[in-house]
Amino acid sequence: MNTGNLQRFFLCLIILISYSSAHADTNSALNDNFVAELDPALERRLDDVLDVGFYPRDQQAFQQILQELDENTPIATRIRAESYRILDMALRKDNFELAFSQSEELINLAKAQAPANGQLEALAIRAELFLRSSDTAEALRLVPDIEVLMEQARNPRILFYANHLIGRILRESSQYESALEYLFTAHDVISKTDDLNTQRRRQFVNLHIGRLHSDLENNSAALSLTEQTIKESLEYGLHSRLPDLYLLKGYILGQEGPSQEVLDTYAEATAWAEEVNDDRVRLIGRNNTGSVLILMDRLSEASMVLTEGQQLARELNRALPRAIMEFNLGYIEVRRGNEVEGLAAMEAAVEDIRNYSRDAELAHVLSHLADAYEIAEDYQQQAQTLIEQQSLRNAIFRSERDQAISELQIRYEAEEQKQQILLLEQRGELQTRLLENKQLQQRVVVLFIIVVIMALCLVYIAYRAARKTNQKLNEANEKLQDQSLKDPLTGLQNRRSLQQALTERKRLPGEQDALLLLDIDLFKQINDREGHAAGDAVLVELAARLTKTSRGTDMVIRWGGEEFLIYLRGTNCEALPEFARRVLDIIASEPIIYQQREIKVSATGGFITLPFAGLDETELDWERALQIADMSLYIGKSQGRNQITGVLGINVPYAQVREALASDLAKAISNNWVEITTIKGPPKKAKKS
Ligand code: GH3
Ligand code: MG
Ligand code: MG
Repeated sequence: MNTGNLQRFFLCLIILISYSSAHADTNSALNDNFVAELDPALERRLDDVLDVGFYPRDQQAFQQILQELDENTPIATRIRAESYRILDMALRKDNFELAFSQSEELINLAKAQAPANGQLEALAIRAELFLRSSDTAEALRLVPDIEVLMEQARNPRILFYANHLIGRILRESSQYESALEYLFTAHDVISKTDDLNTQRRRQFVNLHIGRLHSDLENNSAALSLTEQTIKESLEYGLHSRLPDLYLLKGYILGQEGPSQEVLDTYAEATAWAEEVNDDRVRLIGRNNTGSVLILMDRLSEASMVLTEGQQLARELNRALPRAIMEFNLGYIEVRRGNEVEGLAAMEAAVEDIRNYSRDAELAHVLSHLADAYEIAEDYQQQAQTLIEQQSLRNAIFRSERDQAISELQIRYEAEEQKQQILLLEQRGELQTRLLENKQLQQRVVVLFIIVVIMALCLVYIAYRAARKTNQKLNEANEKLQDQSLKDPLTGLQNRRSLQQALTERKRLPGEQDALLLLDIDLFKQINDREGHAAGDAVLVELAARLTKTSRGTDMVIRWGGEEFLIYLRGTNCEALPEFARRVLDIIASEPIIYQQREIKVSATGGFITLPFAGLDETELDWERALQIADMSLYIGKSQGRNQITGVLGINVPYAQVREALASDLAKAISNNWVEITTIKGPPKKAKKS
């Protein structure tokens, strides 16, 4: 079965329609003036056995002819017979694959042996195969070669066929005007002949011209040509095209809307199909009748005729017409309110139609399915179906109408993709570089942080070291200062510390200090007798005793070798003699024990108050005062030692005594210019060990 062909007929269903198949009539020779190429007897038999289309009227007779073919058969007749064999293989036996390979061989045979007529017929058959297998594009590609051969060919039968074929190919490619031109040429070729088959060819060409008028919406031209051809067919008693002619008439009339006339016309088509055994139109006639009845809301009649059609399709084993009629029956159920069953039937039918139909036809069916969903108020399914239909139409638009554009688009997309890949690669590289930069930056930051931390550590370590050093330095300085202010042997303060203390000393009015200078008596002898170390021990011991006797606020100072000075801050002058007596006592009352030997020690001293005799320091500073004390000490030495002489004040104006106080205290004393006091120490004691 040729499904590609059938599809065209059952397409529009519900809204009815479709006309007939494009069966070319190649069955008889026109004027056979090509004796050398032809076998006239066989040609006549072929004319006889082949009726409308490529379907041999008498299979047995046809097979007989094929068996008789051999290498002696004139080439053109042989090619003609082989062509029918190939078409029979494809259209009746549905073996396109074998048909294509045999047509290849036939073309080669024709090229090798046949003149233009044979070559044209062989090539035309190949184009016919492409057209029948719905590969219009491939058929179209062969057209230029066919045209070249048409220039050379002379056989009107073949020229009629070639023109008719190109007309059909162009119609399939929606080039209706050009198609019409070729069909007119085919029509002209027929009129050059005058035999029994001329009328058949006229009907056939007119049928196709009528369809083209209809395609071009020249409905009145289409209708009058179709009616004229029907009339001629009836007149000449050539009934084989009547089913298709009535089908076309019904379709043209149906363009104005459903009517009784349309129904009657389809009834004629169906009746004639029964008459001439045209199974295809038997099915289409019923389907289209049912469709018109649906449009007229005569649902039970529609159901009846479609059920009949469905059964017939089943009997004839025609899957696609059967599916289409089941689809229409389902639609009726939906219209009747049996939406679930109806839609189920329609959906099942659509699945079958999908297997047999091209996208354009399926899209058409889907539009009716969408209608049914709308009736059932299943808007979601309706939308989905419309979306599928839309995408099918888009696909058709792309594949058929805009193949060139879509090829360009594909090339563009390929180029675009290449560029995208390139860009992506570049971006990838860029990203890698950015990443590397980032990593580098991170490394730099980490390094920087490490360096900063290390620097901080070093600074801290250096700071600690410096602090330690400073501490040590301070300690050393303190020690140095101590050393500079202290006597290393006795630990007493030295001359410098007194100087410092007196410089810093701010006496309040009426406040009095005193200086008591002491010199150990005959110390040289102790050294000489007991040894220098014993002398040292005496110095240390006396320092301790003096410190013990003094107040915390007093300063005990080692003034020189064996001389001590006690600086009394804020003292009561009247208590000074008593203090002097205690000093003498503590020195002399107990001998000093050194290496279990007793050393008897005494000292002689002198003291003076600061300020002295109410004199301002500018008049008499502490150094001069100390000089007076020193002089009074020497007076004590000269008067027997172990005593302290204190200079208490002056009895005459200072100016009078100034000179004597500076250098000759004894003179001042003897003149009674100064007031003095002398305190005697205890007698030296020796302690028995
Ligand atoms: P006078 O009673 O007249 O003061 O007699 P003196 O012997 O104490 O006086 P002099 O000035 O003649 O002798 C002082 C001696 O003191 C001389 C010196 O060797 C001794 N001397 C000075 N400093 C030290 C010392 O640090 N240690 C010891 N062991 N002896 C010292
Ligand atoms: Mg001395
Ligand atoms: Mg001395």
